[in-house]
Amino acid sequence: MENYYAALNYKDTLENDNDHIIVKIQLHGEKESVTINTMIDSGATEDFIDREVCDKHGIKMIKAKNPREIYLGGGKPSAMGPVTHMTKVPMDISSHRELATFQVANLQNQEVILGMTWLREHNPRINWNDKRITFNSKRCTTWCLKSSPVANAVPEDKALEGNLITRFSKVQAKKGPTTKNGPTANH
Ligand SMILES: [Zn+2]
Repeated sequence: MENYYAALNYKDTLENDNDHIIVKIQLHGEKESVTINTMIDSGATEDFIDREVCDKHGIKMIKAKNPREIYLGGGKPSAMGPVTHMTKVPMDISSHRELATFQVANLQNQEVILGMTWLREHNPRINWNDKRITFNSKRCTTWCLKSSPVANAVPEDKALEGNLITRFSKVQAKKGPTTKNGPTANH
């Protein structure tokens, strides 16, 4: 496991629009469900979730047998690692549902990164011009899809802003459904 190589195309600002796309995902933690804008990044060799996101939303972490470093493109160990835990959490992208596996890392500007492991597994068709993802692999049409196979991407500026709001919001305990307009009687 020493040769583990994440080769994350990790930059503070993303200049290259061609190797990533952002989509809205829903993670269903034990404490609550959370919606996060997430990068699908073909430059990452694996799928990562931020440790704070796991803590905050009650996403249960499982201790890995061997801690592994994360290496950046230049070969230096990244401050994001080492990876000591992984997690399995139900995840929705539009109507695509799966039990996703992530390596838990200290991601600095991202909450979740879907990398090559996920891309290979589900093999979605990505239209880079329309910023649209279609889940049309046999696996997805058989196992993952509830209805429409299409998910639209989120514009990058909106995605980052939305995630900051989620990150700094208070944790709310899972309650029953609430409505802003007060309860409505249906009887
Ligand atoms: Zn799938």
